Amino acid sequence: MNLKKIFMKKVKQKGGWVNAHAHLDRAYTLTKKNFRYAYYPLKKKWYLVDEMKRLSTEEDIYIRMEKALEYFLIQGTQALCTFIDVDELIEDRALKAAQKLKKNYGRDIQICFANHVMKGVLDKNAKYWFEKSLEFVDIIGGLPAKDEGRENEHLDMVLQTAKIKGKMVHVHVDQLNSRKEKETEQLAKKTIEHGMQGRVVAIHSISLASHYQSYRFHIYRIMKKANLMVISCPIAWIDHVRNEYLTPTHNAITPVDEMVSEGILVAVGTDNICDIYKPFSDGNLWMELRVMLEACHYYNIDHLVQIATVNGLKVLGLEKK
Ligand SMILES: [Zn+2]
Repeated sequence: MNLKKIFMKKVKQKGGWVNAHAHLDRAYTLTKKNFRYAYYPLKKKWYLVDEMKRLSTEEDIYIRMEKALEYFLIQGTQALCTFIDVDELIEDRALKAAQKLKKNYGRDIQICFANHVMKGVLDKNAKYWFEKSLEFVDIIGGLPAKDEGRENEHLDMVLQTAKIKGKMVHVHVDQLNSRKEKETEQLAKKTIEHGMQGRVVAIHSISLASHYQSYRFHIYRIMKKANLMVISCPIAWIDHVRNEYLTPTHNAITPVDEMVSEGILVAVGTDNICDIYKPFSDGNLWMELRVMLEACHYYNIDHLVQIATVNGLKVLGLEKK
């Protein structure tokens, strides 16, 4: 029995892969010089990409995005969502490259764009660029950890704006594999508060796996009430280094097996490709799915096919009516 063959056939029958989360504007930005940054912690990397962003021309960004997109087309991808940086460093160059990409490839693949709020949304400059990106993007992005100490305000701003604009929201949460993080809980509660049930998607939610079972299942119930969906990027955080904190035994990955059983919708994404965040990641969707199923010990082929296809359409708001 060739399980990969069976799986791939079923994915094809559903119209092909859906890559629900990526950052194509930074794909292939790894160089001999910046490779050493790959060992730095996440919050340092948020600043280490600044120089690359400042120096990137619209053409550079377009070439990177196109190269990655071509690779997803080869894999038989029907839809894809990529975040794009829109801030005072890159200004609107990634946005313009994205517009060109949609124009050139919009007939071959469904492409959704979300704004990556790498500088937060509360600082005056950050807010300016956040607002400037709103009309173009299909999905509004959030990154509460960037406005540390004011996470609730950050979520209020993102959710309120999305509600007014009638757009979905994708938020990076719980990335650090730490019991100190409770961002998925925060996001689920804020989703209910703003009446955005079924319109909000958590990206990652890794830290949930490091909490005790009673907390995890309590959060799953709140997520269900919020109809909060999740995108797991399996390779993105499987590299968390070991530490001396005691937690339930787990792999550093979204607890997909538990979430699916609890009725929470999960999709899959590749996240970063060949940059200082993930120097070895190449955007291979089968590899991502394989890591997910192994790290979560989850072998339900039909559910995995849903994760790789129709669930992706749902988190992107592309579900066929
Ligand atoms: Zn991401």
